[in-house]
Amino acid sequence: MKRSFRSRATSFFIYIGKRYRLLIVPAIIGLAISVLLCNLGDYFRRGTKRFACTIFILLCFMLGNSFAFPVFQEEMGFTSGDMIQEAVPATEESDITLLEYEETALDDLQVLDDEDVLEGYEDAELHDMENAEKYSLTDILEENEQLLSEDSLEDTAIEVSEVQEEYQFSADDWKLVLINKQHPVPDDYTFKLGDIKTIKGNMQCDERIIEELLSMMQAAKKDGVTLAICSPYRDLNRQKYLFNRKIEIYMSKGMSYMEAYCISSQAVTVPGASEHQIGLAIDIVSDDYITLDEGFADTAAGKWLAEHSYEYGFILRYPKGKEYITSIEYEPWHFRYVGKEAAAVMAQENLTLEEFWNKYL
Ligand SMILES: [Zn+2]
Repeated sequence: MKRSFRSRATSFFIYIGKRYRLLIVPAIIGLAISVLLCNLGDYFRRGTKRFACTIFILLCFMLGNSFAFPVFQEEMGFTSGDMIQEAVPATEESDITLLEYEETALDDLQVLDDEDVLEGYEDAELHDMENAEKYSLTDILEENEQLLSEDSLEDTAIEVSEVQEEYQFSADDWKLVLINKQHPVPDDYTFKLGDIKTIKGNMQCDERIIEELLSMMQAAKKDGVTLAICSPYRDLNRQKYLFNRKIEIYMSKGMSYMEAYCISSQAVTVPGASEHQIGLAIDIVSDDYITLDEGFADTAAGKWLAEHSYEYGFILRYPKGKEYITSIEYEPWHFRYVGKEAAAVMAQENLTLEEFWNKYL
């Protein structure tokens, strides 16, 4: 009697399994596969008609759909919707031109900053809005004289090589907490807001950075640079408000939600992913240049900050040319406190906080 393929394959694998004990696992797998293949073959042989029908229906479906394409409809005289109004009709030589998709030129659009978003804003209900004003250097220094210690004006520069050799950075250090789109503010993050007095009222940030912020401003004043602080600590609501407002404005210019979301997240950080929420970031401008834009980098204040901020533990958080790492456009006004040691290392090695984490933590 002629043995079937299945029984021959089965006895072959059983033989292999018995003879070479080590091969028992591959033999079992081979057996399972051959049984499966045999069953599949059987199944297809029995249902030939059914499968032929299915394939025929599928083919009809594919053909029917490809001719529903706008260009063909146009040719056959169907009235088209708005979408294909501009489709070029097929010419006599029958070269088919497809409707060109016009991409929104994101680069040409003016990127909105907080100023634009807040323009015309009058709803005082929103907490902290008045803090969007600028606090000038003289005002802040005068009002906080008692906070400035005697030695805060001493030369506080530290040696980077010493830090690199001796200082041990820790990932648990509050100064180094990494906040970005991939690392939102941890739910259990706690800190104490401290007040810096100004004539207009108090502005707030993490109380642990106030002393160094003040001494930085004082040092700048000594060098003849007048800094001004705007938007220090922002709570989540304000952050959400700024973000949504920006999306609305872009959408009113004809962008889709996704496009508006993408471009907004380049300029304002996504809610929950802002260092302003943890009181460690401060936007600094100067008395005579009050807009948050790239032009600030060329002012005396912008240059002074770029050069000296690290001496007081602050870094330019979103530098030019590192946008691919930070995912935030160049912001010469946004400074983040990381502590003197880390700031010195980052300034020396030209690292962003993300790169610093990769290298040292
Ligand atoms: Zn900022």
